[in-house]
Amino acid sequence: MKIKELLAAGTKELGLELTSKQIDAFMNYLDILQEWNQKMNLTAIDDSEEIVIKHFLDSLSSVSVMDLAGDEKMIDLGTGAGFPGIPLKIFYPKLDLTLLDSTKKKITFLKNLVRELNLKGIEFIHGRAEDYGQKSKYRGSYDVVIARAVAPLNILSEYAIPFLKPTGSFLAQKGAKVKEEVIEATRAIEVLGAEIYDVVSIDLPYSDAKRNLVIIDKVRETPLEYPRKAGTPNKEPISN
Ligand code: SAH
Repeated sequence: MKIKELLAAGTKELGLELTSKQIDAFMNYLDILQEWNQKMNLTAIDDSEEIVIKHFLDSLSSVSVMDLAGDEKMIDLGTGAGFPGIPLKIFYPKLDLTLLDSTKKKITFLKNLVRELNLKGIEFIHGRAEDYGQKSKYRGSYDVVIARAVAPLNILSEYAIPFLKPTGSFLAQKGAKVKEEVIEATRAIEVLGAEIYDVVSIDLPYSDAKRNLVIIDKVRETPLEYPRKAGTPNKEPISN
């Protein structure tokens, strides 16, 4: 199958449809990612088909689950080479998106990518989630926080939940071991002022991989002591 067709068929399987303009944007993203990946290690996945399936389709797998209007204020924590944030921005052009990562070269790549794809309305943050979650400009100001492959759920919850508005939702993209992670994060989620809304299993198209989307709703203000200083959530995770 041609790579464009793989993307179109895969999105269809996810229940979504892309315009030809959106497909072209993804093909551009693919070229730019592979070009930069030769010079710097941005992602371990470098094969075109694998990028389409494991990065693009996996990033879009949350769309039908989230049911967004498309103009929400969203932050992607630990976005790396732009996943899932950039595919979601291509899908929802009006998204008010912030991309945060602690690795400088990834932010440099993303700024170039966003310019080449001519995407508007994206803010970049080079820094740690723990530091920005305490800044008044960012804390409590997002409708949606999203993250994939950044940290176990109890640690990730401390990074994510402080960014949410009191009515916001956090979507964590997880793999097969989701049950253990959810159990381990029970107290952390509660302490941070949120609750599990749902865990949705997804079959990634053209792959045997099982994916799980954990949806967490904020229900109260996060106590001011969270997030603790950079490194502490990871060293001393909130535990049950
Ligand atoms: N979300 C991307 C990248 C995952 S790799 C994907 O799914 O492909 C994890 C990324 O999170 C790395 O780029 C790393 O720099 C970043 N990261 C890890 N801990 C972080 C923290 N505390 N604050 C900000 N970024 C962090």
